[in-house]
Amino acid sequence: MTQFDDTDIRALYQDLILDHGKNPRNFRVLDGANRTALGHNPLCGDRLALALRVDDQGVVQDAAFQGAGCAIAMASASMMSEMVKGKCVDDAQKLFHFMHMTCTGGDEAAPACLCADDHGRLQALAGVRHYPMRVKCATLAWHTLDAALHNTEKTSTE
Ligand code: ZN
Repeated sequence: MTQFDDTDIRALYQDLILDHGKNPRNFRVLDGANRTALGHNPLCGDRLALALRVDDQGVVQDAAFQGAGCAIAMASASMMSEMVKGKCVDDAQKLFHFMHMTCTGGDEAAPACLCADDHGRLQALAGVRHYPMRVKCATLAWHTLDAALHNTEKTSTE
């Protein structure tokens, strides 16, 4: 891949992050939620309340969140809510681990459940690893997802 192409693709996904930050998807109360978690990033003040509806087969049927925070935190939560829908709990957890690993500079192979488009989205979000102050903004939604999947009460990036 030439550097030119890489820059184009990054610009494309950066636009996507801006769009999700301005117009978060799945920003609502979720009826029938059975997995919930609260997330808080004290460094920036981002707060999220995430709700999932997981069916008897362990598939995430719906995901929604509410909260307030910076554009990166909102965009990350919005993109995460879209990505986990229709995934089984195992795969959703693989996405969390991959996102966390990528944001902290790791370079393991992407899990099989990650389609090319979602891979591009996650890599765009993981671009924050060049800005250490923002890493917790981008990973907050994913830590909150992990907590919701484990059904724990509260999570924090601290
Ligand atoms: Zn933030």
